[in-house]
Amino acid sequence: MPNNPNQSHGIERCPSMLCGRPFQVNRFQASLSARTTPGQITCPHCGLLISGPSDSIFLAHALLPSEEVAFLAKETTGTAQT
Ligand SMILES: [Zn+2]
Repeated sequence: MPNNPNQSHGIERCPSMLCGRPFQVNRFQASLSARTTPGQITCPHCGLLISGPSDSIFLAHALLPSEEVAFLAKETTGTAQT
């Protein structure tokens, strides 16, 4: 598999007040796939559409339960949010 510098991934958090769960987002060049609407991230938990840069497509996946726990634990210790 070639190393593609235009591809990146990271953990996003759903902006919905009712959801707010983290999920992994893989970002690709928009030209690589026609099956996904560019500039649109769909929360895998609640289906909320989040807008991103329209030159990229985003594939979102739910984290493994252990990954989600680890992410939330790290975030909780970092900042105190209510
Ligand atoms: Zn959500």
